[in-house]
Amino acid sequence: MTKLALHWKILIAMLLGVVWALMSGKFGLNEFTLDWINPFGTIFINCLKFIAVPLVMFSIISGVAGLGDISSLGRMGFKTLGMYLITTVFSVTVGLLLVNVLAPGKAGDTNTRNERRLSYEIWAFDNQVEIKDGKNLLATADSSLINKVRTGMAADLEKDEYQKAMEKKADVDANKKQSPLQPLVDMVPQNLVLSLSDGKLMLQVIFFSLFFGITLALIKTERTNRIKDFFEGMNDVFIQMVHIVMKAAPFFVFCLMAGVLAGAADSFEELIDVFIRLGFYSLVVFGGLMAMLFLFYPLLLRLFGVKISYSEFFRGLSPAQFLAFSTSSSAATLPVTIDCVNNNLKVSDKVTDFVLPIGATVNMDGTSLYQAVAVIFLAQYHDVDLSLYQQLGIVATATLASIGAAAVPSAGLIMLMIVLESVGLNPLWIAIVLPVDRILDMCRTVINVTSDATVSAIIAKSEKL
Ligand code: ASP
Repeated sequence: MTKLALHWKILIAMLLGVVWALMSGKFGLNEFTLDWINPFGTIFINCLKFIAVPLVMFSIISGVAGLGDISSLGRMGFKTLGMYLITTVFSVTVGLLLVNVLAPGKAGDTNTRNERRLSYEIWAFDNQVEIKDGKNLLATADSSLINKVRTGMAADLEKDEYQKAMEKKADVDANKKQSPLQPLVDMVPQNLVLSLSDGKLMLQVIFFSLFFGITLALIKTERTNRIKDFFEGMNDVFIQMVHIVMKAAPFFVFCLMAGVLAGAADSFEELIDVFIRLGFYSLVVFGGLMAMLFLFYPLLLRLFGVKISYSEFFRGLSPAQFLAFSTSSSAATLPVTIDCVNNNLKVSDKVTDFVLPIGATVNMDGTSLYQAVAVIFLAQYHDVDLSLYQQLGIVATATLASIGAAAVPSAGLIMLMIVLESVGLNPLWIAIVLPVDRILDMCRTVINVTSDATVSAIIAKSEKL
């Protein structure tokens, strides 16, 4: 019997996980699933996470130090960031086009639409936000309606969703920085040990590793050669750890899917219900993501002359994609992405060790597309017309927000608040899209990872590596 390829095993395990979650919901086994199966999913994510940080450090250091010629690093860095920016801006634009043409938010009868609009105007009035589209219902609405809408505003959003949105808002507020240069400041670690201990500080780890690698490349003595060997050896060990963990990936992915779904399953009918309510919006996000995945990236590869067939590309990358789907985290998937791009897409580790860790942190096409769709959907839902100028602003903020989003589950949702605020909309509206966020997060993470892999294949081609 021929051996089944890993990506098929993972796919089957995912489906079994879904079936298990459905059955356990039906037969009252949710508690068992959460107590005895879910922990293995957590163990799996933990393994990937503890491998990811040292792997990023060792792979960048050994990659940069091994380049020999530092000027090629500058060239590669420039190309990498340029490509990342182009793909992100493109994907925001796709999102904007789709959501404007399909208008998933423009549903409901005139009365409910007016009430939603009024709730926006009341919020804008309370928060002294200028209304830019020239409409003003508040001026003519009668006071009983205004009171009704005002009292209904918080109740509209289900209580715990509202609560969750408030917590997320507190997160964002706590992170608000004074200087526009703060992101730059945040990139430079004050304490390496702290940066290594917090997955959200990956950019600091990258900064340190680049600095260290470049310095190591500049000193060419026997002693530093030994250090280079050490880092290369460590890199090999961590890569091997990924291989070992991936051997058991199907089992872990089953646990992960069963656990995630069983956790949401006491409201499974409710979940289907909100999905129907938010279905059109979700479909627009999903459609945009699929267009990026199956059309844009293969086309981009072709355009840059990367010789790889459609099926080779997807088959080679699928373990990373399935993992991105089941973990919703590009950072946790990173070790496997590096492995797939190295071994299956045959991209030199000189490129992957540099391009992929940076990509996992800053390049998030899926996230930026989703943010663009979500903001316009929410505006349409509240009958707010955004001007072309404001929509161009969304391209810029969604791009920056996706760069700033950490590569962990739900990071894009938190950054969505910033994009909403930037165009004068209520950040707490994220509560409306919150119920379908996890499933969309799973999908957009697949795109984030695919984009990183595509760019690294293009850079490798242009560097002849
Ligand atoms: N979960 C995504 C990632 O890790 C980020 C997001 O969009 O929430 O790539």
